[in-house]
This record gives sequence, C-alpha cells and structure tokens, in this order.
Amino acid sequence: MTATDRIGLALAGVGKIARDQHIPSVENGDDFVIQAAISRHGKIDSAENFESYDAFLTARPDIRAISLCTPPEVRFDMAKKAIAAGLDVLLEKPPAATIGEAQALAELADKAGVSLFATWHSRFANGVEPAREWLSDKTIAGIEITWKEDVRRWHPGQAWIWEAGGFGVFDPGINALSILTAIIPGQTLVEKASLSFPANRQQPIAASLQMRSAAGAPITAEFDWRQEGPQTWDIVVKTDQGTLRLAKGGAELYIDETLTVEGPDREYARIYTRFAELVRTRTSDADFQPLRLVADAFLTAERHEVEAFIE
Ligand code: NAP
Repeated sequence: MTATDRIGLALAGVGKIARDQHIPSVENGDDFVIQAAISRHGKIDSAENFESYDAFLTARPDIRAISLCTPPEVRFDMAKKAIAAGLDVLLEKPPAATIGEAQALAELADKAGVSLFATWHSRFANGVEPAREWLSDKTIAGIEITWKEDVRRWHPGQAWIWEAGGFGVFDPGINALSILTAIIPGQTLVEKASLSFPANRQQPIAASLQMRSAAGAPITAEFDWRQEGPQTWDIVVKTDQGTLRLAKGGAELYIDETLTVEGPDREYARIYTRFAELVRTRTSDADFQPLRLVADAFLTAERHEVEAFIE
C-alpha cells in the first residue's frame, strides 16, 4: 500500500489511550494516516491540531475517518456531528454513555451510509478468537470472571471515571464482558448484581455480578479496583470436555492449564486493520451487548457504601 492509498484520519482526545495505543498503531500500520488531532491540551506533532471540534469539522472536510478517544460522556455529540459530516467513525470503548445513545448512533450511521465501528479492544487479544472456536462444540457448565486491578496504577488522575456516567470499575470490567459475549453465543442476562460505592464517589469501585448464558450456564463476575500487587484479568470456562482459561485480559489461552496461545500484543493493530476493512467495504460493526450488561447490572444492583477513595 502506498502512502497515497492511506485513509485520512482525525483523532479526538489525545489522552492516555491515544498516546499508548492509537497513535503508534496507526503509525506502524499501512491503512491510515493521522492528518488532524482535536484536543484541548494534547497535540500530535505530525498532524494539524485543533482545540475546537467544530473548527476541525469546518476546516478539514477532506478527512475521511475519525477515531474518538475521549471519555464516553462526551462521545455522543462528537460522533453525531462526525456522522452528519460524512465521516466514518471509530468509537473507543465503551461506545457511548447510554444504550440509547449507542443505538441512536448506529441508526444515524446506517442512514448516512457511513461506517461505525464500536471497538472492544479486548476482543482482539490473542486468545479470544481461538477461545471462541474451542468452545463452539463444547457444553459449558459455568464461567467465572475475575477482573481485579489497581485503579491508581491504570487510571491516575482520571476524575471523569468516578463521575456520573464515568463507569467506575466497569471501565475495565466491560472489557471482560466484551470477551465473554464474543466467546459464547446469544444474549447473556444479568440475574443479580452488587455494587460497592466509595463514600465520596459517584461510581462503583467494585462489582459482583451473577449472570446466565443463553444456553443456561451460570456466570459470575468479580470486578475490583482495589487490588495492589499482581493484577488479575482471568476468565475460566468449565465445559464437558475440559477447562479453558483466558489470562492477562485474553492475551493468553490455557486449555486444562496448558498454555495454548500467547504472543505479542496486537489488539490495536488488529482494530485498525478491521476499521480499514469496514471503511473500504462501507459496513459497520457495532455490538452493544457489553454496554447492555453494564446497564442491566446498574438496573438490578444492590448498593453498598464502602471506605472513601482518596487518590
Ligand atoms: P484520558 O487519559 O483522560 O484521555 C481522554 C482525553 O479526552 C483527554 O486527554 C482529553 O483531552 C479529552 N477529553 C475531551 N473531553 C473530555 C472531558 N469532558 N473530560 C475528560 N477528557 C476529555 O482517558 P483515556 O484513558 O485515554 O480513556 C479514554 C477512553 O479510552 C475511555 O473510554 C477508556 O475507557 C478508553 N480506554 C482507555 C484505556 C486505558 O488504558 N487508559 C484502555 C482502553 C480503552 P483534552 O483535555 O486535550 O481535550
């Protein structure tokens, strides 16, 4: 692919995930070139930089696609304007602040004939597709998800994550739910949930979920942001023909505790390959089931107050 075949891309929200993953993945890939950045504080040296989103839309109608890497609560307005301007849109996870917003975006994109890609980066981890394949001819007896990490390490100074609409511990927890819903078919349902809110925060620091798969298997999920030391991002699936374990957020796959799949992190490289495919074929990929599970957890949850969280 020559440089001129690359799809012109804008990126909004030059924060942690943009710097850690999006910018290097685009630069190391063949499909896109970042031509504009929209951020009030961050900049991308190789691109034209805008502080105002509307100013970007007016100045650069030549750009074909946009990656929205801002927090979820401001993503809807940006996505709506991008779709109206005819841009193909990549949404960081979670795709929107509410199911209503997510569904509205899917409808708007469909009507406008632009591609909408609601990304779930964990679905692109090395072990996830092999896990789905391995499970496809097995009967699942039960699934246990354990997603425990240190919020101070992974979300330093991110005030938005604790505010209304910020998702709290579901910000990482939704990654586990995105893997779960990729490796088993049908609609998973939440049966019971328990959420722990620090006395001084609007969003939960921990959550326990009881769910059931479409085929009737019990599923539990434990999300906790208070884990110091080693971090745990595991999904264990017990079946009639052995036990599957996805470890390190899906990066490693074990069958009966034998390491079967591992390799370098390619999640965001695969995301941009997929986005290019969607843009070139004028199609969308927008599955909101992980967001719906989070919403259902909030709808069904018992609320517990726990010790205040001081960063
Ligand atoms: P972040 O470091 O806070 O960056 C988000 C950027 O969005 C900010 O730097 C800010 O840039 C811009 N922004 C625009 N409106 C904002 C508002 N009202 N409040 C705060 N920032 C606003 O967050 P992040 O960790 O990159 O996360 C962004 C999204 O990526 C989230 O949905 C998150 O779930 C997802 N994600 C994060 C990670 C991770 O490891 N951090 C991993 C995967 C996915 P300006 O101030 O310059 O405008």
